[in-house]
Amino acid sequence: KVVLVSGATGFLALHVVDKLLARGYTVIGTARSESKYQPIVEAFAKRYPKGKLSFEIVSDIGTHDAFDNVFKKNTDIQYVLHTASPFSFGLNKDLKEAYLDPAVNGTVNILNAIKSYGPQVTNVVVTSSFASVYDPTPNLVHKSDTWNPVTWDQVDNELVAYIASKKYAEKAARDFVKENDVNFKLATVNPPYVLGPQLFDFSVKENLNASNAWLLQNLKIDKTLTTPLDQEPFLAVHVDDVAEFHVLPLENKKLEDARMFIAGGPIVAQYVLNVVNKEFPEVQGKVAKGQPDSADELLKLAPKYDISDIVEKADGYKFIPIEQCITDVLGQYFEHYPLK
Ligand code: NDP
Repeated sequence: KVVLVSGATGFLALHVVDKLLARGYTVIGTARSESKYQPIVEAFAKRYPKGKLSFEIVSDIGTHDAFDNVFKKNTDIQYVLHTASPFSFGLNKDLKEAYLDPAVNGTVNILNAIKSYGPQVTNVVVTSSFASVYDPTPNLVHKSDTWNPVTWDQVDNELVAYIASKKYAEKAARDFVKENDVNFKLATVNPPYVLGPQLFDFSVKENLNASNAWLLQNLKIDKTLTTPLDQEPFLAVHVDDVAEFHVLPLENKKLEDARMFIAGGPIVAQYVLNVVNKEFPEVQGKVAKGQPDSADELLKLAPKYDISDIVEKADGYKFIPIEQCITDVLGQYFEHYPLK
């Protein structure tokens, strides 16, 4: 069974590809260039000597017809996992061009290519986000049918632009299947902050990918502070769980058209400090302690949620605890960049 994974060189997508190869799927990834995918092909070939992985170049998902040739050439693609979307900050570019256009147009382009050249595709999974679910109404319990009320005219910075881009891209995907006669089922994965190790050690850089980079910021909190400054509690989930929920809709009919809002639990800076100080004795004295007893109360302020419907459809799925998200990221990071 052949699966196309867009943005296959990304942090999350590598974990998705790993799961697919482990389960015997044939994987076609898309990447911006050969130099981006070549090291990955080599690393997977060592890991899965019999694994079937190849790449197609899609240099910009936002370009009209970006995916057409991929489907014209590979008429055996049965499943499509669309993970590619702009997710880096500090770009210093027009916000619409940097976030909204590639996110929305990339999604519509891949769906149009399937409609025109991939009638054999049965399932599509689009990587959306909790950004598309989050509603700031106080005490609201977020569920798999909750939508972020944000509109593009409210966007005034990169983070809000990213958040809005995810909502608009998911909406575009859902509108597409309503308005077009398509042969496939559409599912979305809506994870909050994705934390977890890099699949391959060569991806461990001094600055990690956007979501893991937040964990590193906590290591830099002023050691004399008794309450860390950055105390916005939010939700997180382990990258392995997010990857699993990309594959589940291909194997479990109950999830084939689900909006899979998933979460491992709440997280806040003080909790990260508590875990780091407890689990990594070698960093004692190098990382702030903050006010350890305040973590529990702070965690209670995170967005409320109820994902029991998705957990049930996923046969009682158990998410990896947030503590392990933190130790997996930092355990790998400290091997390469020990704290000074
Ligand atoms: P990455 O930046 O590591 O992955 C994004 C991938 O998309 C990269 O391979 C990137 O390629 C590719 N991409 C982005 N824009 C374009 C474009 N215009 N043309 C071609 N390729 C493009 O981030 P993540 O792995 O964290 O994110 C993967 C998905 O998960 C995204 O859809 C993101 O929105 C979603 N998500 C992530 C969360 C998180 O906390 N990490 C939370 C919720 C959702 P390149 O690197 O070459 O630019």
